[in-house]
Amino acid sequence: MLFQELAETYERLEATSSRLEMTEILAESFRLFDPTDIKMATYLTQGQLYPDFHPLKLGMADKMLLKAITFASGAKESEVQVLMLREGDPGLVAQEIISRKRQTTLFSEPLTLRRTYETLEAIAKAEGGGSQDLKIKLMSKLLSDASPSEAKFLSRIITGRMRLGVSSMTVLDALAVAFATKEDRDAVERAFNVSSDLGLVAEEMALHGLEGVTRIKVEVNRPLRAMLAERMSSPEDILEKLGGTCAFEYKYDGVRVQAHISRGEVRLYSRKLDDLTSQFPDVVAGLKRAFAAENAIVEGECVPVDMNTGEFLPFQEVSHRRGRKYGVEEAVEDYPVKLCLFDCILKDGEDLLSRPFLERRKVLESCVTEDDSVVLSEMRVLSSAEEAQKFFLEAIKEGCEGLMAKSVADNSVYRAGNRGFLWIKYKKEYRSEMNDTADLAVVGAFAGRGKRKGVYGAVLMATYDVQADRFQTVCKLGSGFDDANLASLLEMLAEDRMAERHHLVDSKMTADFWFQPRLVLEVRGAEITLSPIHTCAFGAIRKDAGLAIRFPRFTGRFRDDKEGREATTSQEMLVMYQAQLKQVE
Ligand code: AMP
Repeated sequence: MLFQELAETYERLEATSSRLEMTEILAESFRLFDPTDIKMATYLTQGQLYPDFHPLKLGMADKMLLKAITFASGAKESEVQVLMLREGDPGLVAQEIISRKRQTTLFSEPLTLRRTYETLEAIAKAEGGGSQDLKIKLMSKLLSDASPSEAKFLSRIITGRMRLGVSSMTVLDALAVAFATKEDRDAVERAFNVSSDLGLVAEEMALHGLEGVTRIKVEVNRPLRAMLAERMSSPEDILEKLGGTCAFEYKYDGVRVQAHISRGEVRLYSRKLDDLTSQFPDVVAGLKRAFAAENAIVEGECVPVDMNTGEFLPFQEVSHRRGRKYGVEEAVEDYPVKLCLFDCILKDGEDLLSRPFLERRKVLESCVTEDDSVVLSEMRVLSSAEEAQKFFLEAIKEGCEGLMAKSVADNSVYRAGNRGFLWIKYKKEYRSEMNDTADLAVVGAFAGRGKRKGVYGAVLMATYDVQADRFQTVCKLGSGFDDANLASLLEMLAEDRMAERHHLVDSKMTADFWFQPRLVLEVRGAEITLSPIHTCAFGAIRKDAGLAIRFPRFTGRFRDDKEGREATTSQEMLVMYQAQLKQVE
């Protein structure tokens, strides 16, 4: 299959922001593509070479890409740079320069999808001395054989700017439509949730249809998508929702870890499926000691502890352990952690996903020997709101965020990748109407003035509307930042810059800068109010108003474990607003 076919699909996808149209375009293309190429096509559509959990990532700095464009086209470096300053998007630069190029390349080889993919793979793998030159050479060879449109998408893919707005969920919709029926969508999503591998699901669908995806099972060393929780604001409501009795656990404030154990080897994955193994050698060693099973997949929260008192410390302490390449040993000593296990998904080859929660807990208890570094989560099965409230206060006193309530009904399965009422979080902020925190996505920014000249003065924050797949603004955030935060904000947002408002963002405000909604910040607010200029849950309470956070303040916590779409949802904001009203009454 030619890469051009894929580029044509991208052109069509780029021209629409309707999820329905995107699904149709993708489904149509999937049917036409060669089934053996569909895996590669799916990864590239997501701007990736492999599934999220694969440690090897594709990435090239703009500067290197511009060099490759220069080599490929014979254009002057200054010409390319001027264009980059004007466009801000290396994709458009490549497209323009390649189309200006005189048609003199007599021996250009056609770009097959396989060749394109394998070259990008070689670029990702190149390391060590001379690798920069090699990467530029490989990229420029691809570009010199590319059409302007192909060059645009290649450049976006390699610089991490493939922003077609095609979510994994849209790809799953399209796969169901292309190779089965709309009604089979759930089975396709299940396969993705247990494998986290969109390419694999696409390939199985293309080659073997529904039968292929139903064969996809949980496997050790292939992380599954995490089960998520809804939120409620009182133990009474929670107990009622969960049928009168449920398991309450401490809600630890740390980093979620999915551990895959196989014959004494341990791999750790984050909630976003990044490989954390090398950053937590102490947790790896602790799990090796604690585990009796031949193989297992377990989940828990990694919480920072005070090595002298054994008490839990605030979350920020554990963030010192994330993203380190060097100094891991020192960090282990300076910021010790404890792993509090709360679920078991597989043991000795047996998939426990469809077992009720208490059975999974029993299996977990049977194979773990607790010590200082690995423990089971504190859990109590309760039917009384009063006792739940007492347990909640105990959790807070211990330094936890609150409680997690878990259904113990027969259907309390592990729902990979799903948010639902089988798990309900009950956090301390919800008790006080003026003290909520929300995790919001940065969608825009305003130029700084006075002391903030040269950095952002404020950022435009949004919730995520799950039903509509849109980001809706909820506040303009300017407080709570120190100089260091502001500087890192500038850096972190650089790669998300867009020339105009992202098509998934609903905003009545006009920001000075717009971003791809990716970065999530934790924000504390004084109050949630109605506002005509914010679009969060617009019309839900009053026809002409949305919800807004009053006096928002950045808590200092960059939620880099969350993606844009994992921001607090507009629906949750509505629940928070209503809960707040109840408490005021
Ligand atoms: P939130 O990040 O506020 O949406 O809350 C969900 C997160 O709470 C999960 O992703 C876990 O990282 C964390 N958590 C802490 N304790 C537990 C527990 N006992 N059971 C499940 N999740 C927990």
